[in-house]
Amino acid sequence: MKLHNLLEDVVSETVNEIFDEESRERSQGFCTCFQCRLDVMCFVLNRLNPQYTVSSRGLAHRFSDYQDQLQTTADLVGLVNKGIQTVSATRRPQFAHDRTEVADLPEGPLFNFPVIEGKVLNGGTFEPLSDLTVSLRAEGKLVRMLDANWQNPYPLSEHTAGSFYFLPYPIKAGEVGATRSFDFELSIVDPRYEEFHHFIKVALASEATFTGKLHYQEAYRTADLILFPREEEEDSRE
Ligand SMILES: [Zn+2]
Repeated sequence: MKLHNLLEDVVSETVNEIFDEESRERSQGFCTCFQCRLDVMCFVLNRLNPQYTVSSRGLAHRFSDYQDQLQTTADLVGLVNKGIQTVSATRRPQFAHDRTEVADLPEGPLFNFPVIEGKVLNGGTFEPLSDLTVSLRAEGKLVRMLDANWQNPYPLSEHTAGSFYFLPYPIKAGEVGATRSFDFELSIVDPRYEEFHHFIKVALASEATFTGKLHYQEAYRTADLILFPREEEEDSRE
């Protein structure tokens, strides 16, 4: 059984509608790049309680019920707009904020990666951590990202409550439909916390061309990364 957070669908749809409209009309002047979309989705999701359901059966029906209910009880669009203001005001300087084109993509067939997403929490308080970077490695090396909008190591930001996202550069495959499992290591090394490593496997089937799996619902979610503050050792002898 797979638990599914209905809110992710509703929020993702609402954010994409607002951003798509802005990228057509250019009436409000905020950045509509994929990173800013993710930041806004994250901003909103972190301010609402998750609404879990078991996936697929009756989903469409419950989805629309839930959407109606949400629009009357909570002002989702208002929250999205607040997210846009916050994200625009604190735009990540590291990002190019432009994903019109990806420079030199390899020819297909390709293994196209999903966005790898997760959250970092303090194991003592379960508060999200934001003043850290997370690294994604494969075979001991930092994984190349799709383009300059994706950082590795990834700097956590306060307004997205400890969330990180990676989008690895596609890897060439021998033929369409080949399957392969990729091993990645997420790590956080910071003197204030116990060193942290988390291993994940992403299984993929190769596709004819680059497909850019940029939908929030298609993301690969890791378990929460829980960091424990380092015990104060020798310096506590006073
Ligand atoms: Zn942007």
